[in-house]
Amino acid sequence: MPIPEPQFDDLYREIILDHYRRPRNRGELSAPTQQAEGMNPVCGDEIELDLRVTGETIEEIAFRGQGCSISQSSASLLTERVKGRDIAEAERVSAKFKAMMNGDEPDIELGDLEALQGVAKFPVRVKCALLGWKVLEEGLSQAKKGIKEARG
Ligand code: ZN
Repeated sequence: MPIPEPQFDDLYREIILDHYRRPRNRGELSAPTQQAEGMNPVCGDEIELDLRVTGETIEEIAFRGQGCSISQSSASLLTERVKGRDIAEAERVSAKFKAMMNGDEPDIELGDLEALQGVAKFPVRVKCALLGWKVLEEGLSQAKKGIKEARG
């Protein structure tokens, strides 16, 4: 059974295809402090994420993966949005992205991620869009444990 394809308006489609064809922060980090991965078996999407967190700041982020344009462009947009930001901000953006996937109006803080709003109408594809964020949350929770341990 074919997976339904969301229709995007032109501007949004352009952003999504641009990130799919020219993913930002794709590759690996030489000295990641955290690594996480995940997959979406329904669609065959895979995302691996490297993070370099210093203190509470996401200094560097890189991802590798394969799958549909929604999963890969969401991951690319994600890395661009959270790179150089602190963990609390990344978690806030992640929560707002999830809320948008649940049908909420996009929050201003989401920036270009708003392009994926149309996915919300397609529950099967929501999993594609959320994959990178699930992996990010896993990496951030590892980082927070590290921070806690370092503080004793
Ligand atoms: Zn997918």
